[in-house]
Amino acid sequence: MSDDYDRALYRLAQEVDGRMVIHEYPTGEPCWTWRVPEKWSCDEAYLETLDGRRLIDVAQHPLHVVSYSLPYEGQVSRQELLEHLHVHPRLPTAIPFVFKYYQRDWGLCATQELRDSLKEEAYRVVIRTRFEPGTLKVGEVIIPGQSEETFVLAAHLCHPAMVNDDLTGVVVGLQVAKELLAAPKPYYTYRLLILPETIGSVAYLSHHETLIPKMVGGLFLEMLGADLPHSLQGSFTPDSQPDRCFVSALAGLDPQGYHAPDRKIIHNDERQFNAPGVRVPMLSISRVEPRESPTWPYLEYHSSLDTPEIVTSERLQASAQLVYGLIQAWERNVYVVNNFKGEIFCSGYGIWIDYRVNPEGHRRLFEIMERCDGQRTVADIAVELNIPFQAVWEVVETLASKGLVWYRRTPPDS
Ligand SMILES: [Zn+2]
Repeated sequence: MSDDYDRALYRLAQEVDGRMVIHEYPTGEPCWTWRVPEKWSCDEAYLETLDGRRLIDVAQHPLHVVSYSLPYEGQVSRQELLEHLHVHPRLPTAIPFVFKYYQRDWGLCATQELRDSLKEEAYRVVIRTRFEPGTLKVGEVIIPGQSEETFVLAAHLCHPAMVNDDLTGVVVGLQVAKELLAAPKPYYTYRLLILPETIGSVAYLSHHETLIPKMVGGLFLEMLGADLPHSLQGSFTPDSQPDRCFVSALAGLDPQGYHAPDRKIIHNDERQFNAPGVRVPMLSISRVEPRESPTWPYLEYHSSLDTPEIVTSERLQASAQLVYGLIQAWERNVYVVNNFKGEIFCSGYGIWIDYRVNPEGHRRLFEIMERCDGQRTVADIAVELNIPFQAVWEVVETLASKGLVWYRRTPPDS
């Protein structure tokens, strides 16, 4: 919670002309097992030698101070300074992003190079920070649908002076929201939430408890600017319809894309939605290196090297298109109900595929038709057959155009 966070949110609100509602939760407000913290401001922070040579200064880079650092002013020994001077674990020329929201302490951040050059016995530290009552702000853009059933898109905005994590998720979310607002009214209502990580989601959810039963699924967005394929992380309930739909649709949208179970790609706000008492299946989409990579999730992660240079607008555009494609699949994820009995007389309807010319197409057509029984969604059929969602949809739409199937939104027993 800071003035700069608020400024960023108000500026982003302008991108969707008046469509963003800003919810405010005051300091101290209970949010389930959490409470809203104080607003934090940093007026000044620097490190100097005793003869006044300034070594680091937050005026030069905002990451030079630990986020939520306590104020501190005084002369410290080299040893004491090193206990409070943080460096990046693997990037010697980068300033790390360090936060101490709940383990209160003072701290500065510097490059490994600067830390290695500290040879004097004592230094002067000045950290002028303030903790005051404020409000935690969550931006919400609602795209009304025909149904009150809600699908949530979420991105966090609490990482100072960094781009890939976390501004890219916000940018992609806003782009998708704009496209949804310009398109014909969708079936589901969509809510894009822009918030500070974790506490923002807990504050929003704990103050919208009546909305939770209407939430049918969600997608968390971040790290979408790096030069890596899309990685889709499943929800806590991997058999859910959003999981089945997105996993099968990703195959049709990014052939290099891959998916992994809950918590196996990266942890973010989807944790709060998937958690006990909420259990909204929320997946996440990002572009990150595999978990076993030494530079996971990407080289410049949580450092001053996470700059606009590592992100391209082409990749952001491609990610926005991919997210839009996932939403399009979600809109089409209906139960397919048969209007026919027995196997369809394909030649009679002009939809037969000659197995001598296209054996694969022939087999797929019959495998898909066999599963159009009112018990399965498009995603269920795609997952069962291990083929892209879009391939199933194409066949199902052909059958619908011949009046052979119809669609319903609810499971057969409801
Ligand atoms: Zn982060």
